[in-house]
Amino acid sequence: MTFYRPSYYKNFKCIGSDCAFTCCREWAIGVDSKTLKKWQRLRLPGCTISPADYVTDGQIQLNADGLCPFLDESHLCNMVKAHGEESLSNTCHTFPREWHVFDERTEETLSIACPEVFDTVWNLKRFEIEKSNQPIPFSHPAEEPEPCQELFFKIRDWFLEILQGDNISKNSHPVSTELALKIIFFFALDLYETYVDDRLTDSFFEHYKKHNLYDQLVTEISRNESAPMDSMFEQNELLLDLSENYRNQGMYRQWLESLYKSAKEMESTTSVNGIEKALEEFQQIWKSNERHHRNILCEEIYSTCLIPGGDLYSMVLKLQWIAMTHAVYKQAMFLNWLKSRDKASASGETAANSMLIATMIFRMTGYSEADIEEYLENSFEDIIWEWPYFALVVG
Ligand code: SF4
Repeated sequence: MTFYRPSYYKNFKCIGSDCAFTCCREWAIGVDSKTLKKWQRLRLPGCTISPADYVTDGQIQLNADGLCPFLDESHLCNMVKAHGEESLSNTCHTFPREWHVFDERTEETLSIACPEVFDTVWNLKRFEIEKSNQPIPFSHPAEEPEPCQELFFKIRDWFLEILQGDNISKNSHPVSTELALKIIFFFALDLYETYVDDRLTDSFFEHYKKHNLYDQLVTEISRNESAPMDSMFEQNELLLDLSENYRNQGMYRQWLESLYKSAKEMESTTSVNGIEKALEEFQQIWKSNERHHRNILCEEIYSTCLIPGGDLYSMVLKLQWIAMTHAVYKQAMFLNWLKSRDKASASGETAANSMLIATMIFRMTGYSEADIEEYLENSFEDIIWEWPYFALVVG
């Protein structure tokens, strides 16, 4: 078995009670059946009922403030304090670590829904994957390996190279992350077609990769006028759609309510000229953070595009989901930036909150495979998007 993991994986440390957006709040905290059985026999100091009584339908019932009922006033876990780390459920024990076990390789990663991880990835000089024959000492729950064609790894890794601007073309410099995403999706749709027709083989891919249209696409896509305002309104729409469920459940109120209000105002704005100017200014700031956005997207493509049992179909859906997440994240940052510009109305929610809002967006889009498919099926005319729509979403 070979282990693959991002370079920063081994250094991760949870900062516990110092965390500004603990994973013990406003989240579905799953409890596996083995842990639940164990909890039935346990008691917390001063408590007559068992921790298992706080679990409904396999999830811990959060208190009225959206916090895990086992947290103490310093945000430390009473379960760990009373019964040790081994008393925790798999979810609590492992988050933000994730791993995908394939036949011959295990890919490990850390979720950017943890603010510590987000901050680390954001500040990387470059996103790198390390290869090793040794697991990092950490007790993963045993998982059955699932097969995945080696060819799919090659395709996923090529997408990462495109995003990083590595050896793609002798003529081109690395392009913006948005342009790279659009090119990746173009190739993904093309390869998906050959996959559906049963023509996708290793030699086909090698040939395709060698004679790809990268330079031509860079020229063509760059030449065509993009429509930043249309993209921004589409991103706004996606943000409103995605927020709906969470608002109905009363989750992330602290940040989501004001973000939702701003998105609603944006939806019905009549001062298009003023917004257009502000958007131009924001795009410059966004572009100045190119390296950081590239790191985040590389992490997303590495950790979510190819999972055990995945194929070209699931990769295409994942790329759409990544584009959607990127769009919603960018719009949230734009709305937050607009608000913080106006010092007089800034009510504590300023640019300083950017990272927490970003973490919230990555939690909100942290759907399971099946849920992503259902969301895309229910929200769009076709589950597989046309390339122009993908381009509009990415902006
Ligand atoms: S979100 Fe990350 S840093 Fe914060 S408590 Fe959870 S694991 Fe620790």
